[in-house]
Amino acid sequence: MLTHLTHSTDLTHLTIQLLKPENVMKTKLLLTALALVTATAQAKLNVVATTPDLAAIARDIGGEKIEITTLAKPTEDPHFVDAKPSFIVKLNRADVLIEGGAELEIGWLPPLLAGARNAKLAPDAPGYIRCNEGIQMLEVPATLDRSKGDIHAAGNPHFVVDPENAKIIARHIADSFCKSDAKSCDAFRANLKKFTDALEAKLAAWQKQLEPFKGQQVVAYHNSWPYFGNRFGLKIDLFLEPKPGIPPTPAHLAEVITKMKADNVHVIIVDPYLNRRTAETVARNTDATVVDVAQFPGGVKGTDAGYIQLMDYLVNALAKALGEKK
Ligand SMILES: [Zn+2]
Repeated sequence: MLTHLTHSTDLTHLTIQLLKPENVMKTKLLLTALALVTATAQAKLNVVATTPDLAAIARDIGGEKIEITTLAKPTEDPHFVDAKPSFIVKLNRADVLIEGGAELEIGWLPPLLAGARNAKLAPDAPGYIRCNEGIQMLEVPATLDRSKGDIHAAGNPHFVVDPENAKIIARHIADSFCKSDAKSCDAFRANLKKFTDALEAKLAAWQKQLEPFKGQQVVAYHNSWPYFGNRFGLKIDLFLEPKPGIPPTPAHLAEVITKMKADNVHVIIVDPYLNRRTAETVARNTDATVVDVAQFPGGVKGTDAGYIQLMDYLVNALAKALGEKK
């Protein structure tokens, strides 16, 4: 019956039919059903997350109560996301926006947000979640100098891969969801507890697994692993990029190779959006292993299920590569 509603003649016909005494009860039932459908549709919070790691945590907290859109792909560099016009529409309709903050999205999100003109996502609105709030930022520069091209001008923005930070982020998300949908707050709080408990149990196991490699050095392509390194006792402080966001140069790579040989470093980690071939060239010169890693669930195979599965993958992959000592 509802498929005919687009035609005004059908609508008139329908109205006449519904107003007939024998159909009044049916009309009431129909209207009640429609109201229920509308209420259910409105009940879900419309959430936009900038990156898939934040979306995964939001999904664990929001469950069935939210509808989530992720802007960056799991295989996309979060500093340089392809900003599609459709993102403006998504942001315009959102109740909640979750961003990493600390300038991670500064190159692409602000113009989209301005275009979306959504009061729910105003800077001080409860629907605007900046995940870096309350996070102990690493590598905050003493003096701001963007002239050299460093894209980590507000400190290192890749903090989600530390499970302790994931707990803080989950709490921010639950707080915001509660403000936007008070009726579902108990469910959000219960999910938060479930996520935090699971993470705490896992964290102890992960730390134990990486314990034998404490203090070992690992080379990364881009400087996105200091939080992970700190949490698990690894030194991930030698990079193929001379500066974050600046592509490797032959002179810089020669320097890295010399250091790797001198200190017997034999693991290089590479995110999916970076140039694996460069890492392979360095690995050939140093007898090292290239390990595919990602900060986002789905960025490497077998990590689609969410944050905990991704961390499982990362810990296993590093323990395996570091265990094959050369
Ligand atoms: Zn970065």
